[in-house]
Amino acid sequence: MKTAVENMREGVREEGIRRAGEILRQGGLVAFPTETVYGLGANALDPEASAKIYRAKGRPSDNPLIVHIARWEAIGRITGELPAQAKLLSDAFWPGPLTMVLKKSPEVPYATTGGLDTVAVRMPDNEIARALILAGGGYVAAPSANTSGRPSPTTAQHVAEDMDGVIDMIIDGGPVSIGLESTIVDLTEDIPVILRPGFISQEMLSSVVGEVRMDRGLLADDPSIRPKAPGMKYRHYAPKAPLFIVEGERERVQEKINELSASESAAGRKAGVIAAEETSDGYSHAIVRTIGSRKQEITIAQHLYAILREFDLLEVSVIYSESFETPQMGAAIMNRLMKAAGHQVIEV
Ligand code: AMP
Ligand code: MG
Repeated sequence: MKTAVENMREGVREEGIRRAGEILRQGGLVAFPTETVYGLGANALDPEASAKIYRAKGRPSDNPLIVHIARWEAIGRITGELPAQAKLLSDAFWPGPLTMVLKKSPEVPYATTGGLDTVAVRMPDNEIARALILAGGGYVAAPSANTSGRPSPTTAQHVAEDMDGVIDMIIDGGPVSIGLESTIVDLTEDIPVILRPGFISQEMLSSVVGEVRMDRGLLADDPSIRPKAPGMKYRHYAPKAPLFIVEGERERVQEKINELSASESAAGRKAGVIAAEETSDGYSHAIVRTIGSRKQEITIAQHLYAILREFDLLEVSVIYSESFETPQMGAAIMNRLMKAAGHQVIEV
């Protein structure tokens, strides 16, 4: 299949949106930018279209898709009884990087929900995404537009690396603004539960709906406690080289990473290092990538996946990363980094 590329770096182009919407209505696949990461879209109400997403990504069929809408009024058709919290959270955070898990209506096929009686719904804050959703019929199932297991795409180029020749169209809207997937909150029980941390933090949610819990499967190092979001149990975001997070006092971390990189280099291999702007000057014997500034945590989120992909291309033999416990997005950044590292941490 030839994959068309629509350039919308300068903004929405109606003609391209019309073509993309037509592809979605006919059951095809279109990758598009959102504020979090690039999504791989299909008509969420068409089980065969949803099935194509799983095939294109190599995604396990029990890992449900998020349904994207562009207007609050659209939610009624795909959900059962709505808890009051849904409207409150929508008023506070939609359009935006928040996904709500709700009871599904019979109109949503099990092919979209991975067999579950619940549906995950989000309204993205991106002009291109919202125009596409409307043009495509109002309900677009879209997981991240990467091959399953690889880091999520934050540019159209990343999407093309994984999906060129496999899907009908890629809409290039330039680099995304957040860089990590949405926060997922489960509203099917009395107390909301965060199934995946993201830009919208536990505190932000609590300020609107009171008590909010974190899924125990997210906090546990113990892999036998299964996370509630089916997708969170898989190894994700994984670079080709093994990744280690080095934690401890700043100078000790640098010494340790330099020592490990030096022995890698002595063995004729090259290590990659992920460091904050504030400390990246302190490394030698390695390919160093500056992820962002600790003073502006969003810059760390924005660059994580691109750096993991770059290290794949550079064929480093191992990656050492500093730890990034930042105030608002720290939980989300460390959740993705820990998963990418398969929980391999070196304490110094
Ligand atoms: P992705 O779109 O690739 O970021 O993956 C979507 C994430 O949402 C996965 O971790 C899914 O397991 C999760 N998810 C989607 N639908 C549901 C649902 N109905 N219940 C719980 N988690 C869900
Ligand atoms: Mg994904």
